[in-house]
Amino acid sequence: MTESRIYQNILVGAEMQDDDDKGYQEAHLSDVIRMQMKRRGKRFWAGDNISDYVDEEQKEVLIDEATKAFEKVLDTLLIDRENDPNSKGTARRLAKMYYNEIMAGRYEPAPDATAFPNDSQDRYEGMLVVRSELRSMCSHHHQPVSGVAYIGIIAAQKLIGLSKYTRIAQWCARRGTLQEELCNDIAREIEKATGAQDLGVYIQMTHGCCENRGIMAKSSLTQTTVLKGAFKDDPGTKKEFFDNIKMQQEYASK
Ligand SMILES: [Zn+2]
Repeated sequence: MTESRIYQNILVGAEMQDDDDKGYQEAHLSDVIRMQMKRRGKRFWAGDNISDYVDEEQKEVLIDEATKAFEKVLDTLLIDRENDPNSKGTARRLAKMYYNEIMAGRYEPAPDATAFPNDSQDRYEGMLVVRSELRSMCSHHHQPVSGVAYIGIIAAQKLIGLSKYTRIAQWCARRGTLQEELCNDIAREIEKATGAQDLGVYIQMTHGCCENRGIMAKSSLTQTTVLKGAFKDDPGTKKEFFDNIKMQQEYASK
């Protein structure tokens, strides 16, 4: 989008102000996009993907806006960002990090997961378990959350490339999340990409907000599980999934 187009949109957005939107003097692109989402009833919580509302060029403008906002935060924290060499570019580093790294999964569309048919006579009918390393952050404190997801499916009529399971899981994780929600999100997206009705997601993570602050519990580990179809209803399938996880963990610890 050209600068004039962005500006036009900002003007349109400014005109579209309703009572809720009053109170800001200067129209920002972030205000315009927020209004668009509100009007269309689009939820934009920290764990929601809003890639339909933000394109690549707009992202650059938003990074500039976030830089200004982080500068204000640093000023309010009474950090000398003019003379402290380590704090000089911090506002921009934070803005870029949020958009391009730790919250990238909010602004990027779902990873392209080409599906291959699995419907021939000798189709794969077994269980598939993938171990995916994850990095996320909690919505409450914006502290790092890191760990591993084990994704298990019994293949349906199609299969996706092995790396896609991890790409999908990472895309769900690169947002502000709650681990319980993340577990649900990964299960839903894997179901969408593979068409598998029988699946399980088990996540083990440590939370920066429990380690660096609050209860300061260094070794706290949180586990969440979502089971669907046979993983939930058939004790044999459930056991096979958790046996597979155990084997994965034995392998990973070597
Ligand atoms: Zn937290």
